[in-house]
Amino acid sequence: MTYPEIILHRGKEESLLRFHPWVFSGAIRHLPKDIEEGDVVRVFAADGRMLGTGHYQIGSIAVRILTWDDEPIDDDFYVRRLTAAYNMRRALGIASPDTTAYRMVHGEGDFLPGLIVDVYGDTAVVQAHSPGMHFARNMVAQALVKITGSGICNVYYKSETTLPYKAQLDATNEYLIGDFTTDVAVEQGLKFHVDWLRGQKTGFFVDQRDNRMLLQHYSHGRKVLNMFCYTGGFSVYALRGGATEVCSVDSSAKAIALTEANVALNFADTAPHRAEAVDAFDYLAQMPTGRYDLIILDPPAFAKHRGALKNALRGYQRLNARAFEKIAPGGILFTFSCSQAVSREQFRLAVFSAAAQTGRRVRILHQLTQPADHPVNIYHPEGEYLKGLVLYVE
Ligand code: SAH
Repeated sequence: MTYPEIILHRGKEESLLRFHPWVFSGAIRHLPKDIEEGDVVRVFAADGRMLGTGHYQIGSIAVRILTWDDEPIDDDFYVRRLTAAYNMRRALGIASPDTTAYRMVHGEGDFLPGLIVDVYGDTAVVQAHSPGMHFARNMVAQALVKITGSGICNVYYKSETTLPYKAQLDATNEYLIGDFTTDVAVEQGLKFHVDWLRGQKTGFFVDQRDNRMLLQHYSHGRKVLNMFCYTGGFSVYALRGGATEVCSVDSSAKAIALTEANVALNFADTAPHRAEAVDAFDYLAQMPTGRYDLIILDPPAFAKHRGALKNALRGYQRLNARAFEKIAPGGILFTFSCSQAVSREQFRLAVFSAAAQTGRRVRILHQLTQPADHPVNIYHPEGEYLKGLVLYVE
């Protein structure tokens, strides 16, 4: 296979030699004239050394390296990479009858930059974030079915909103293989409806699995407020943990309907749960002080890019300050940020400022992150995005 060849400026091979999988456009000395977005390309240092093979795209990240070896990017390549990803999930006990909702591919963390695959029962939801992965979608879909035996029989492609807008790929959300069978997936023994057709992202936030289990542990006998509940993941765990009362809040009426459906899927209709479709800030403002002694704050990413960082940090501070003001003495606060642009230190500082502002005595019980099916490639620290703190508020 002959792929177009890209040559870097002298010295610009350094980060690639340290296995960081991105080539920035400024590092490129020679780009073939007929190259097209999404092409597989081979990357060379100025001295002629072959560095790796990856997907080319227009923009600040020009190449995402798929392999450091000189190998073809074909069906076999995807079969090998996806097998490695699947075997790891199985070896860790994540993909099991008890948990059929999990992330099978986490981009750079699984050496497949630009690709996300979440599995819900017998359906895989594939998301491409690069033109190269968009063009590889059918190879990926076929490999997924092949390597899981009959484990995965439906592959839904959902990239309408994740591909770079300027690439004008006009991707359609559709089943590449199979069709709708069931929307129920299991997470640590709890059942959830997952709406990949209309829901946010791939339909469910699998990245909170471990943190939900910890929440369950602390829920016994507590009054729990689950802010930004989406499909009610934390609420269902709180009920299993023996919370005396759970209130789920989300501004989206659709999310609230899904939360109610998920509670009903797991518990009798006498379960001490209610849900409200209101704005989180409004809810906290009108809520009586001391009403809840376990509060979860899991807002959407406040900073989608670096430019929004300052406002995002202010947003985290404001939100957490409301929770510190209102939580009962001896309360536990689970607070999260999923913004990639916000570092762990910056988030901690925003929460720290909120605590100081309210004068409550606050201690850190746990520092949380994303679970093992969202691995961080050690050479690509940007892959770490989920940050959480569990705080004891006196
Ligand atoms: N905790 C959830 C995931 C949260 S995703 C889980 O474990 O699955 C973020 C959610 O915040 C979305 O459902 C979105 O509808 C909701 N949201 C966004 N802005 C909001 C606001 N101002 N008030 C309340 N909910 C909001």
